[in-house]
Amino acid sequence: MKKIQMTTPLVEMDGDEMTRILWKMIKDELILPFVDLKVEYYDLGLPKRDETGDQITIDAAQACKKYGVGVKCATITPNAQRMTEYKLHQMWKSPNGTIRSILDGTVFRAPITIPTIHPVVKNWEKPITIARHAYGDVYKSVELKAGGPGTAKLVFDGADGSHQEVTIQAFKGPGVIQGMHNTDASIRSFAHACFKYATDTKQDLWFSTKDTISKTYDARFREIFDEVFQEYKARFEELGITYFYTLIDDAVARVIRSKGGFIWACKNYDGDVMSDMVSTAFGSLAMMTSVLVSPDGNYEYEAAHGTVTRHYYKYLQGEETSTNPMATIFAWSGALRQRGVKDGLQELVRFADELEAACFDTLGEGIATKDLVGLMEGITPKPANSAQFIAAIRERLEKRLAA
Ligand code: NAP
Ligand code: MG
Repeated sequence: MKKIQMTTPLVEMDGDEMTRILWKMIKDELILPFVDLKVEYYDLGLPKRDETGDQITIDAAQACKKYGVGVKCATITPNAQRMTEYKLHQMWKSPNGTIRSILDGTVFRAPITIPTIHPVVKNWEKPITIARHAYGDVYKSVELKAGGPGTAKLVFDGADGSHQEVTIQAFKGPGVIQGMHNTDASIRSFAHACFKYATDTKQDLWFSTKDTISKTYDARFREIFDEVFQEYKARFEELGITYFYTLIDDAVARVIRSKGGFIWACKNYDGDVMSDMVSTAFGSLAMMTSVLVSPDGNYEYEAAHGTVTRHYYKYLQGEETSTNPMATIFAWSGALRQRGVKDGLQELVRFADELEAACFDTLGEGIATKDLVGLMEGITPKPANSAQFIAAIRERLEKRLAA
C-alpha cells in the first residue's frame, strides 16, 4: 500500500514516562506504516528540557506558531520529588503552561464517549466540552508570605504617570498574599476562540465566573464576552445556538442537571478543576482529549491526562501494563486531520477518520484496557494490555483502509 503523503511538517513533541512508551507504540503501529510522516521533532522529555535549560519547550511552541499544528505527549511538571529523581538543575515550569502562554490559546477538552460506557451523571446524553482559558490568573500569579504584622497593597503605576493603590489587608499577624492578573487582549481572544468553536461545532456556549464577588476582575471577563458576542450574535441565531452567562456555582448545578452537548467556557482555574470532574464523570481521564486553539488559528493536540507515573514504575519493573492509549491516539488523529484540512490533503483527513473509527470498532467489540473494563455495560469486555489493544486497533485500521 502506498503511504499517505504530507506537505507541511507536524510539530511532534515527545514526553515522559508511560505516555512516552505509548507514544512510540502508537507511531510504530498506527501511524508510520500508513503515513509518510513529516514532522519537526522536539523532545520535551524532562532530561532534554533540563539539558537545554527548557529552551526546547520554547522552540517547540514557536514551531507550533510557525507550522500551525502540533501534537504533544504528556510531560512531567517537576516538583521537589522530581528534582532529586531526575537530578534537575532547576524546577522547570510546566511545559503546557509555557506553550499556552506563547500561543495565547484556549484549551478545549472533550470526552471520547462510547455507547457501552454510561456517564456517572445519568442524564448526560452528549459530551460536555470544557473551554479553559489558558492564560493568567493564579497560573501566572506572584505570592508572598507576610512574616508578621504589616500592610499589603495593590499598586498600579501607569506608563502615563497615573497611580492607583488599594490596601489588600492590614495584617495583625503572619499570612499569605497573592497577586494575579489577566489582560483584556487575552480575555478577548479567549472569547473569540469560544464563540468560533461554538459555531464550528454548532453547540451552545455557556460561560461562568464569580462576578458578584469579583466585581472588577471577573466582571471584566463578562463584559468582554458580552462585547465579543455582538460579532457572533447573527451567526448564533442562524445556527439556532445560544450564548448563556451564569455564575459559576449556578453553572455547576445546571451542568449536573443538563443533557450535555454544549461548551462550558471556564476561567483558567475553574477549567483546570472542572475538566477533571467532567472527564471522570464521563468515565475515565484516559478518554479525555485536549486541544489548544490560538486566536490566530494554531492548534496543539494532546491527551488531557498526565504521564501515568504509577504504570510507568510497574513497566520499569518488567510488569505488563494496561495503560489506555485512546486520548493520545486521538491527539494524533486530531493533529493529522487538522494538518490535512489546512493543506487540503483529503487522504490524510480520511486516515484520521479511519484511525478513530478503528478505535471505536475495537472498543465496540469489548476489547479494552483495564481502566475501561469495569465501566463497560451490556457487553462482556475482553481486557487487553496496551500492546494488545493497539494491535487490535491496527488490525481494524488495516481492514478499513483496504476497503
Ligand atoms: P496522570 O498521569 O493523569 O495519572 C493519574 C492516574 O489516572 C493514573 O495513576 C491512572 O490511575 C489514571 N490514568 C491516567 N491516564 C491513564 C491512562 N491513559 N490509562 C489508564 N489510566 C490512566 O496524573 P498524575 O499521576 O497525577 O501525574 C503524573 C505526571 O504527569 C506528573 O509528573 C504530572 O506533572 C504530569 N502531568 C502532565 C500533564 C500533561 O502533560 N498534560 C497533565 C497532568 C499531569 P491508576 O493508577 O488507578 O490506574
Ligand atoms: Mg487539572
